Amino acid sequence: APAAATLELSGIRAGYGDFQALFGVDLRVAPGEAVGVVGPNGAGKTTLLRVISGLLRPTAGTLRYGGHDLTAVAPHELPALGIAHVPENRRLFPHLTVEENLRVGAYARTARAHFAERRDRVFSLFPRLAERRHQLAGTLSGGEQQMCAIGRALMSGPRLLLLDEPSAGLAPIVVQQVFALVRRIREEGLTVLIVEQNVAQVLRVVDRAYVLETGRIAAAGSSAALAADPAIRRSYLGMH
Ligand code: ATP
Repeated sequence: APAAATLELSGIRAGYGDFQALFGVDLRVAPGEAVGVVGPNGAGKTTLLRVISGLLRPTAGTLRYGGHDLTAVAPHELPALGIAHVPENRRLFPHLTVEENLRVGAYARTARAHFAERRDRVFSLFPRLAERRHQLAGTLSGGEQQMCAIGRALMSGPRLLLLDEPSAGLAPIVVQQVFALVRRIREEGLTVLIVEQNVAQVLRVVDRAYVLETGRIAAAGSSAALAADPAIRRSYLGMH
């Protein structure tokens, strides 16, 4: 398995055509950490994850994962480095079953060798998926689809998991379940970078977080420090 490494972004700028979405972002995630990126709609959170996973090339700055320059790595090469990205819209194959979707996540030759063992681990993490292993992914509930998307990402055996708004569009009770899963995943030793609008919830499962506002890091700190910060409480936690 690939070694865990530090993810390090420095001065990252990126955008879409003439539109600039990120204005010099510095961010660091050390092995074993769970780190959040929070901020309002349109702040650039999804763009940041797309840059890290090679879907969008930065126009300036450096992006490293251990000894690797990620700006020179294609998205399909990420699993070999031990990085998995769970995109915001989940992108499951709706006409494949749960188990077939998991198989897609283990397409690399080394991952295929571990298929049964990793599938069983995913099923033990998500008993709901085990019960529904033969159901078409398109017929799962929103929360089950999120579990399936996270499970599929785990099938490549990642050391670093990039999660884009796992709570988006889910009912409050399901949101709780998804965050409980994130907590379990990190207790198993995975490094997690999670983008979220649900600031109150995410601060309960991460060690540290960055606040992204219109493409710039506006604040950063431990979860406890951010949760106690009057400006954060006012803007993001609905407290006065
Ligand atoms: P949300 O929480 O609503 O998903 P976000 O913080 O993830 O927001 P991004 O999706 O990264 O924000 O978008 C940042 C900015 O870039 C927004 O102003 C958005 O309109 C713009 N943007 C995103 N994707 C594109 C695109 N493909 N073409 C042009 N502009 C884009």
